[in-house]
Amino acid sequence: MKKGNKKIIELDSPIDYQKLTCVINDFFEKYNFISIGYLGKSILGRDIPIIKLGDGKSKVIYISAHHGSEWITTGVMLRFINEYCELYKSCGNVEGIRIETLYKNVEINIVPMLNPDGVDLAINGLSNDNVLYERLISMNGGQSDFSHWNANGRGVDLNHNYNFGFSEYKKIESEQGIQNGAPTRFSGEYPESEPETGYLCNYIRFQNDFCGAISLHSQGEEIYYKCGEYIPEKSESIVKYFAGLCGYTLKTAQGMAAYGGFTEWFIREFDRPSFTFECGKGINPLPIKDLSMIYLKLRKILFEAPLILSRLRY
Ligand SMILES: [Zn+2]
Repeated sequence: MKKGNKKIIELDSPIDYQKLTCVINDFFEKYNFISIGYLGKSILGRDIPIIKLGDGKSKVIYISAHHGSEWITTGVMLRFINEYCELYKSCGNVEGIRIETLYKNVEINIVPMLNPDGVDLAINGLSNDNVLYERLISMNGGQSDFSHWNANGRGVDLNHNYNFGFSEYKKIESEQGIQNGAPTRFSGEYPESEPETGYLCNYIRFQNDFCGAISLHSQGEEIYYKCGEYIPEKSESIVKYFAGLCGYTLKTAQGMAAYGGFTEWFIREFDRPSFTFECGKGINPLPIKDLSMIYLKLRKILFEAPLILSRLRY
């Protein structure tokens, strides 16, 4: 069978930027009812795709792969887009939800790989022609194994680069001796200093009116939903419902994890629900064979969350 005719895409090897591009091209050929665009370019010049499903007035945003070694979260989003589109084509239902209703009511904005340079380093390692070759080797402690790399293409951890608790984080960062450019946890020079976070924040701030956000990371089977101790109205009942569906544990961010993250920034900026799901269990990078189980646990949430969040009516 011709690759483009397959209903379910093959995701049986690590999902790097090249694979993402192939899958998106495949979606573009098969599903003329979805919209594919770009947030902007990563620090090393890769286009960061954004895919829109549905044409409802309410909007939600889903984001995967803030962290390089967490590329399995891109797979979760691609599985979701794939299943959504196949169901829409066949006027189908999933988990008691009519896809046509979902399509008409909510526009789901999906950034399947916010950090393409970090993912590429984690999967394919550092190529000799990388313009930052010497710097990246030095940031990686002289090692050529980048499989645990989480930062972007110049050593900034994107999920500490948002404008929430940045100065508090900087103090902890220096106490911990985190270098100016590192595989993980270096927050950058100032909030949104990186193109990846800058484009995303601007997109959310200026172009749209999102009623909620979901960000996928790995791992731990946990859900984060607070900004400090603050919880937006109705977030608590929603997150308890989600936890009941997927069996994940509800958590409050502690220590370094409490500052500079997307979920905290979104809650503080808009006072609307935002959730971080730590997908799967094990040691990052999780093996691709875990993808199906992770997706099955989150599937109902990914389909139902847009409707739940859209009913909050801001
Ligand atoms: Zn992460």
